[in-house]
Amino acid sequence: MRKAAFIYSTELERYRYPPEHPFNVSRAAKVRKVLKSMGLLSGDGRSEVLPESAERIVLKKFHSARYLHALQNASKGKWDNQALDMGLGTGDCPVFNKLYEYSILACGATLTGANLILAGSADVAFNPSGGFHHAAPEHASGFCYINDVALACIILAEARKRVLYLDVDVHHGDGVAYAFYDRCDVMTISFHQNPRTLFPGTGFEDEIGKGHGKGYCVNFPLPIGTYDEAYLKAFNAIAPPLIAAYNPDVIVLQLGADALAGDPLANLYLTNNVYVEVIDSLLNFNKPILATGGGGYNVDNTVRAWALAWTVLCGTDISQDKNPPVGGVMLGSTEWQGGLRDRELAISQTQRETVIPKVEATIELVKAKIFPFHKIKS
Ligand SMILES: [Zn+2]
Repeated sequence: MRKAAFIYSTELERYRYPPEHPFNVSRAAKVRKVLKSMGLLSGDGRSEVLPESAERIVLKKFHSARYLHALQNASKGKWDNQALDMGLGTGDCPVFNKLYEYSILACGATLTGANLILAGSADVAFNPSGGFHHAAPEHASGFCYINDVALACIILAEARKRVLYLDVDVHHGDGVAYAFYDRCDVMTISFHQNPRTLFPGTGFEDEIGKGHGKGYCVNFPLPIGTYDEAYLKAFNAIAPPLIAAYNPDVIVLQLGADALAGDPLANLYLTNNVYVEVIDSLLNFNKPILATGGGGYNVDNTVRAWALAWTVLCGTDISQDKNPPVGGVMLGSTEWQGGLRDRELAISQTQRETVIPKVEATIELVKAKIFPFHKIKS
């Protein structure tokens, strides 16, 4: 039986980004509510765990003291041009009341998960309030202030674990990729919308790491309109062979749900059935998995995707889920009223003809650039 920890504190509900901002902190609470109503938060090895806020000494493993000081001051209303230079107080990364407390608790939840895995107390840990992959050591970026996922990878690597970081958020996981760009003890793989068409404008095929890290940073840019079949073609060609060759001790999975069709900030066309396939593929490696949330700006679709991801991570049988509605627990989504899985989307011939050749070309390019470092035959 898999020991699975859902990491959450209702204290996280006390903080919020300004109302006009797309990042909705209530998603995690909604995931918990859905899972609770379905009886999927307890029993069969599943438990809820309260997070601890990340300590300053730990945050300094990635962030500079100067930045943390500015973040804490901004959070108390003391904000200046120096803070703005570090990305604090922009449209993307606004300053809001108790921003610091929120950030260190959301980050602490991911680190709590990492520590449960290191202690052998969990095989799977999920922090739906985490996944702030854009934050840089001295810069807030893309709605992210404290990079919980980079810090989790650092802590796991310090414990001499080989870490595989997989990022399926629609945006390039730049903060994490660059944190380990010259290291081979943390491999980063990011599947994201082509950076020519989306923030943060990085994550091209030729960004493959440097020095000891060459071949350990993997980027797969996806064309606009990428749908399930095309995504899985890319994923299955690249990720499982690399993970098998790398043979990690632990997997960190950033599960941003903004690649789903209908996300207001991006242009991919996935259903949450992709996440089932991705997680199933990772579970085949039989390694501990630390999963986090991330982007996802259609709230109902994101909540359903993360609730579904948790059930798959826990090994719950969801084979019946595509069929009848489960009574009384559904979200008011316009897309679907029955079960956690999305229904399949119709794909036009034009969409197939546009997307598939681009994906196939990128598969060959990524294989050519990365596989030789790992002696994988393509
Ligand atoms: Zn994103």
